[in-house]
Amino acid sequence: MIKLTITCREATQITLQAEDRQVPLAERLSARLHQRVCSNCRRFARQVALMRQASARWRQYTDE
Ligand SMILES: [Zn+2]
Repeated sequence: MIKLTITCREATQITLQAEDRQVPLAERLSARLHQRVCSNCRRFARQVALMRQASARWRQYTDE
């Protein structure tokens, strides 16, 4: 069941937990929908994604 209205707090938690890949698809979709209407959370999700990319690159670099 997809919740159409979640709070910023919930959206933030889902965004952070999504890194573990344990978050159910329905919750991810809820967060996506929330981000469509909430510019704050949209910006936050983008920053998290950038940080993840940066740390993945860093990990790759240190593995070599
Ligand atoms: Zn929000």
